[in-house]
Amino acid sequence: MSDDRPILLWLRRGDLRLADQPALSAAAATGAPIIPVFFRDSSVDRLGAAARWRLERALDALAQSLARHELPLILRSGAPEAALATLALETGARALYLCRHTDGDPVAFDSLKERLPEVRVFDGNRLFHPAEIRNASGGPFRVFTAMWRAMRGADIAPPAPVPPRLRSPEQHPSSERLADWKLGAGVRHGGSVLARHCEAGEEAAQARLAEFLEDDLRGYETGRDRLADDACSRLSPFLANGEIGIRQCWHAGLRARDMGNPGAEPFLRQLMWREFAAHLLWHAPELDKRCWRPEWEAFPWSTDETRSEIRAWKRGRTGVALVDAAMREMMVTGVMQNRARMVVASYLSKHLMADWRIGLRWFEAHLVDWDAANNALGWQWVAGCGPDASPFFRVFNPDTQAKKFDPDGVYRRRWLAEGTLVPEPTALEYFEAAPRAWTLSPSDPEPAPVVGLKEGREAALAGWHAFRNQGSAEL
Ligand SMILES: Cc1cc2nc3c(=O)[nH]c(=O)nc-3n(C[C@H](O)[C@H](O)[C@H](O)COP(=O)(O)OP(=O)(O)OC[C@H]3O[C@@H](n4cnc5c(N)ncnc54)[C@H](O)[C@@H]3O)c2cc1C
Repeated sequence: MSDDRPILLWLRRGDLRLADQPALSAAAATGAPIIPVFFRDSSVDRLGAAARWRLERALDALAQSLARHELPLILRSGAPEAALATLALETGARALYLCRHTDGDPVAFDSLKERLPEVRVFDGNRLFHPAEIRNASGGPFRVFTAMWRAMRGADIAPPAPVPPRLRSPEQHPSSERLADWKLGAGVRHGGSVLARHCEAGEEAAQARLAEFLEDDLRGYETGRDRLADDACSRLSPFLANGEIGIRQCWHAGLRARDMGNPGAEPFLRQLMWREFAAHLLWHAPELDKRCWRPEWEAFPWSTDETRSEIRAWKRGRTGVALVDAAMREMMVTGVMQNRARMVVASYLSKHLMADWRIGLRWFEAHLVDWDAANNALGWQWVAGCGPDASPFFRVFNPDTQAKKFDPDGVYRRRWLAEGTLVPEPTALEYFEAAPRAWTLSPSDPEPAPVVGLKEGREAALAGWHAFRNQGSAEL
């Protein structure tokens, strides 16, 4: 006897695709009608302005893909557990399917199981569940290389294609309208600038992966550090929203490696960094709030966000060209090249001796690819207080970094306008995107350095020596 009761498919940020989507594949395989539903809950409202803006585009693209299968995406507001129970009653649903997330708000599974006939959870948004892998001593991994060596050969299930048939229910439950949620409101006029640099949705993600494999993977190992080259995959916003599955990216890397592509191994390593970050956050859920090495809580970082140097860092007006260019790239595009992230994070937490959490929160507000684990690990790694971190005394010199990774100044010219006769259009876009209250203009004089690079480095190292002499840190 066929069972026409629908399956509720609960989708969250990280799940927004049809291919390599294990909960969707399993629901489709039952032959039951499917009701995909997304909730605007507190986790959505807590997202930074740029990530929330980007989420709106991901949801819009997903709704269009589902519509091609005659499935409407149901949007509801409120705490999901209670709302799902209501929806199950309304629709006579037989089950709830969802993907497992390893970060974000925990799901009240007990309450869901009490209220729904069946609840099934599927893995697939990470290569490994952080609780299920262990280092040689049986504990969580603390060192990236150890995790890489142990897990690089692991058997990862291949990605499933878009299910050939998605059955639509006879009746659709009511839905709120995405436009009414105004998810992009927080970025204000910056949204129109971000939109010029942003593609969203599964189709765009698939095209990006294909283009990267074809054009850039071969030169990825060195290209990924060259600031002006755009030689990285630029998959991070798609991965953050789940518009592409991690297993698909992993298997694409493996295939390229088997075909002898020299960029494949370094690419797979970066995907493993994403796993390492998720693993650390799972085992240390306060990774974005507290120093992973607790003795570093006593480090003399400044927490005074009103300092003019910190304001200058946020506004891309420190007078250090590479730092300012990178901060502007983020304001205009919502992303920043990885090396540039390391340079600006080092400058803030070392040259300016500002608490890394100030930078972490600024990134959280401005990145469209914001990922709780990657961001926390990135900041703690650079600041020196994290697991497997770069030692504090390794202070990036932005000028040396610029000479090495932007030798012709192409990246800096792309993002800096002051003092230039004919600024590039991207450099001018910064003034469109930046808050009006900052009253910045491309004809402003070039900013003088807020701190000399030598002076800032020496002050940071003096702080570090004093801290070390207190004997509190293992340095
Ligand atoms: C201070 C700081 C903050 C960061 N904040 C974020 C963040 O909020 N969101 C985010 O996705 N990444 C973050 N990163 C990591 C990294 O900078 C970005 O993932 C990368 O720049 C994205 O570009 P891509 O997709 O072209 O990367 P590629 O070089 O093409 O790498 C492919 C994928 O591997 C993963 N990856 C690459 N590098 C890292 C890394 N160091 N750590 C973890 N995963 C990695 C990402 O998912 C990335 O999309 C941060 C790094 C630092 C130093």
